[in-house]
Amino acid sequence: MLRRSKYQRLARVLRRKLGKSQVITDQYLCHALGTDASVYRLVPKIVVKVRQLDELTYVLSQCRLSKTPFTFRAAGTSLSGQAVSDSVLITLTDHWKQYRLLDMGQAISVQPGMIAADVNRLLKPFGRKIGPDPASIDHCKIGGVAANNASGMCCGIAQNSYHTLQSMSLLLADGTLVNTASPRSVDAFKQSHRSLLSGMNELATRVKQDPELTRLIKHKYRLKNTSGYAINALIDFDDPVDILQHLMIGSEGTLGFIAEITFRTLIDSPCKASALLVFASVELACKAVVELRDSSANAVELMDGRALRSLRQHPDSPDFFSGLDLNACALLIECHADSEIALGQQTRKLWRQLQPFPTSHTLPFTNDQERCQSLWRLRKGLFPIAGANRPAGSCVIIEDIAFAVEDLAEGTVALRHLLDEHGYHSAVIFGHALNGNLHFILRQDFKSGEQLDRYAQFMQSLTDLVALKYTGSLKAEHGTGRNMAPFVEKEWGAQAYAIMLSIKRLLDPDNLLNPGVIFNQDPEVHLKNLKALPECNLPESNLHVSNLHESNLHESNLHESNPPEQKQTKKNLSTQSVEPTDNSINLCIECGFCEKVCPSRNLSLTPRQRIVMFRQLHSLEMAGLKRQAASARRQLDYHGVATCAATGLCADACPVGINTGFLIKQLRQQKNQRRQWLAQLIASHYGFVLNAGRLLFRLHQLASKQLSAGSVNAIGRYLSRLSFGLFPRWLSAFPGAASKGVKIFPDRQNPLSKTINQATDKQTHPVEIKPDVAIRQVIYFPACSSRVMNTQLAAADQRGLQQVMASLLQKAGYKVIFPEKIENICCGLPFDSQGFPAQAKQKSDELLASFKSLSQNGKIPVISDNSGCANYCLPIQLQGLSVIDPIAFACTHLLPRLAITPKQETVMLHITCSIRHQGLAKNLVTLARRCATEVVIPTDIDCCGWAGSKGFTTPELNQSALSTLKSQVPAHSKRGFSSSLTCEIGLSQHSGIPYQSILYLLDEVSEPKVRGVK
Ligand SMILES: Cc1cc2nc3c(=O)[nH]c(=O)nc-3n(C[C@H](O)[C@H](O)[C@H](O)COP(=O)(O)OP(=O)(O)OC[C@H]3O[C@@H](n4cnc5c(N)ncnc54)[C@H](O)[C@@H]3O)c2cc1C
Ligand code: SF4
Ligand code: SF4
Repeated sequence: MLRRSKYQRLARVLRRKLGKSQVITDQYLCHALGTDASVYRLVPKIVVKVRQLDELTYVLSQCRLSKTPFTFRAAGTSLSGQAVSDSVLITLTDHWKQYRLLDMGQAISVQPGMIAADVNRLLKPFGRKIGPDPASIDHCKIGGVAANNASGMCCGIAQNSYHTLQSMSLLLADGTLVNTASPRSVDAFKQSHRSLLSGMNELATRVKQDPELTRLIKHKYRLKNTSGYAINALIDFDDPVDILQHLMIGSEGTLGFIAEITFRTLIDSPCKASALLVFASVELACKAVVELRDSSANAVELMDGRALRSLRQHPDSPDFFSGLDLNACALLIECHADSEIALGQQTRKLWRQLQPFPTSHTLPFTNDQERCQSLWRLRKGLFPIAGANRPAGSCVIIEDIAFAVEDLAEGTVALRHLLDEHGYHSAVIFGHALNGNLHFILRQDFKSGEQLDRYAQFMQSLTDLVALKYTGSLKAEHGTGRNMAPFVEKEWGAQAYAIMLSIKRLLDPDNLLNPGVIFNQDPEVHLKNLKALPECNLPESNLHVSNLHESNLHESNLHESNPPEQKQTKKNLSTQSVEPTDNSINLCIECGFCEKVCPSRNLSLTPRQRIVMFRQLHSLEMAGLKRQAASARRQLDYHGVATCAATGLCADACPVGINTGFLIKQLRQQKNQRRQWLAQLIASHYGFVLNAGRLLFRLHQLASKQLSAGSVNAIGRYLSRLSFGLFPRWLSAFPGAASKGVKIFPDRQNPLSKTINQATDKQTHPVEIKPDVAIRQVIYFPACSSRVMNTQLAAADQRGLQQVMASLLQKAGYKVIFPEKIENICCGLPFDSQGFPAQAKQKSDELLASFKSLSQNGKIPVISDNSGCANYCLPIQLQGLSVIDPIAFACTHLLPRLAITPKQETVMLHITCSIRHQGLAKNLVTLARRCATEVVIPTDIDCCGWAGSKGFTTPELNQSALSTLKSQVPAHSKRGFSSSLTCEIGLSQHSGIPYQSILYLLDEVSEPKVRGVK
């Protein structure tokens, strides 16, 4: 009770300064937000979202005053339990991404919230990169990389954060900020923290004067090692500030907060090649690794037979994976060079070196980037993919050890024996072989005490084998966390351990920073607070699955006799409705790889957190805890369901293709039972609804002529508030109303499009644009959006999208057919995304019926002017009717028939989710680059969160997703482009410049190629 009131008091104080939305205490939200990728679950009492340093300093001061422990969180992809807390969890918002490029990219200063791969994107123009390269580089953040001393495929030891650190701004537990790059700051720090620094000096002297200890430290850091503190700093440096900043690396948030870090960068060689070799046994592969140790190979990754088995259904895996036996072992090798010639020489030499080691299969060196990337995707996704193969309801644990390379063959064989001895027959072994660093994955059910004992005994034997027999590292790169805290002393011995404890006491005397991590008094801490990943049955559904990524990569067992199975495609766009229980979320291992693309990540929850919350709700319901389940459901309703765009972008980022949006649509469907009648009414009177919509946009158009944008937004806010949110937010960026029916009149901007037609929604006959050049027919299916809305009122080109499309088709010489009863036609997407699958099906059936004969059973293609609709219609293609995306059509059919004169202009470009789903992102970028000399694609904005209608009903989602857009629009850029009218509303609203379909730009810059067309 007392403890609870302490947290309540602290939360009240923090809210006064930071506001309610940044201080979260609801236990169900805390449960979801508190999740990291490890096997441990601690539920924070408070989650604080900090936006800047002064907020953090304040939070720390209040925690200090109330003696409340706290834990920092970056991306939460840690695997050893170091990013979870049962006290205060401090997370960083998207604001912590500032950077400074120094000395033409020779160094870079970055704030801790930037994703590590984004730092490399900034360095790319300089041909440089940062050293640390964990497999999670596309998802983890710099603060976490440095605080874990994470490393990966190529970086080894020499290029990790410790060895490439130049300087750091760090905030200590007592609230002091020191910038080690600033002599003034350092001088002041030396004055104010004399006793701390002399304590540091004393420890360094103690170590340096002890040859045995010095020898041990040197030996330990010959290997990759993140077990305990980086006490090599005590022998590598003399200046206590240097020692301090290096100790921060790998300290897992237990010594202070890294507020900014400057890395020395490395050359990112322009030429790269990869090869894959499969050996008959792990010993053979490891012997080859020893041979490669002194070669020019930059990365050598080992994957044992079980790892290869778990990958065999993945779309990127080579076909021969299916036929490999479990003794097989593969090495994935990468070489870098400055030129293709040098690369060729290197790879040939390497190949010769490997000749003495017989292989069963090889993929020789290739510099084809797509082929290389597909091999590396397999390797980088191995943990989540193998984790997804676990038995339903069990957990997945990944361990991370290192042997000296010369011990690798023996050590790996011994490890396999150990795993078998403890019944972990299916454990997958893989790792960064060049550094003797092995990972292995255990699928473990902790439901019974017996299972827990098995794991406990295994950990004792493992630590004996690695730390005592081979003097290896118990944690090579994932950090000690809670998982190895009980074994740090076993690995390092009492003396070194005591030094580490002294460091902790010097910097955090009250033990407030991430207590329990790295050091823990409880010898069984690694066996406590283990996560349950309960199997959940999803609500019944008959949702459309155009975006459902079939990810059923299940492998029931890993026995030799398993017949080769048919490879699954991750993006399997199926025609069928989903089976009543599509339970792909059960594959989720909570790795967090899906988080960065989610538009609601700063507003409510991420895909991972939605799954976690759903799992919790399921557990509460199963346990019959009705009151708690009702509370959890209330939180899920807004944070999980209402604020999810449900466009499924998370599926692209998830290594096993889990589409959380699909789960959300199922939940919406469940919730919508009572509103079925309304959806049915709309579906059956769709034309009427669209007319009403047109009327509203007409009113908006009239009002906008009289009122300023600011007034429209203010009135919109007021009306929405007055109606308790029932009235959709009215925004100044709403377009005007479209003309009813398809009326494409003579067009002043495009003299070509004379009297194209007067087609009404009743006409079914082909409308010839220009008989003399009409060499191909298409059916033009204008989306509901372009039938209701015109274009941005602020845009120079005020034609409707239909006119623009018709103009382009005409220039390219197409004969156009307008379908019958177009007013009532809809692909079904708006119903589907709102969780009304029956009505969605009704509409898509109507569309299919209406287009089938018109298209002569699919002979005449249908083109859409909206990527969302085209993407949703993909399954229809398998029923014989092809609905082509406007971007796909423009790239493959219009561009070759048009002469383009690009505009000398900088334009903004937004790549919609549906474009990404269809794999058309590159096409859209190419198209934009053909039309304008400079194209800016903002970073960090994947899904805009408008999602067809969310911008009307939950505008805060769109606002949050696009919060960084305006600052990314260059001053000289006056307009933006995309391929979805509704997305363009939000983009215009939050960028301050009008966005239109890219087809406008294409029409503006193009002339017909066909001779004779004037
Ligand atoms: C599938 C998968 C593959 C992985 N592969 C690798 C790999 O190849 N190599 C590897 O090393 N790791 C790997 N990891 C582990 C993990 O991704 C990395 O260690 C990563 O660097 C952690 O970064 P993060 O942003 O997620 O940090 P978090 O997990 O959020 O935090 C990590 C630690 O840093 C502390 N911290 C965070 N920010 C700060 C700050 N600003 N100041 C001080 N302390 C801070 C936290 O308290 C925590 O202790 C993998 C994880 C997954 C899920
Ligand atoms: S949904 Fe996929 S990416 Fe997201 S946490 Fe789960 S396994 Fe990882
Ligand atoms: S569907 Fe979109 S909004 Fe919903 S969880 Fe996935 S990425 Fe986030």
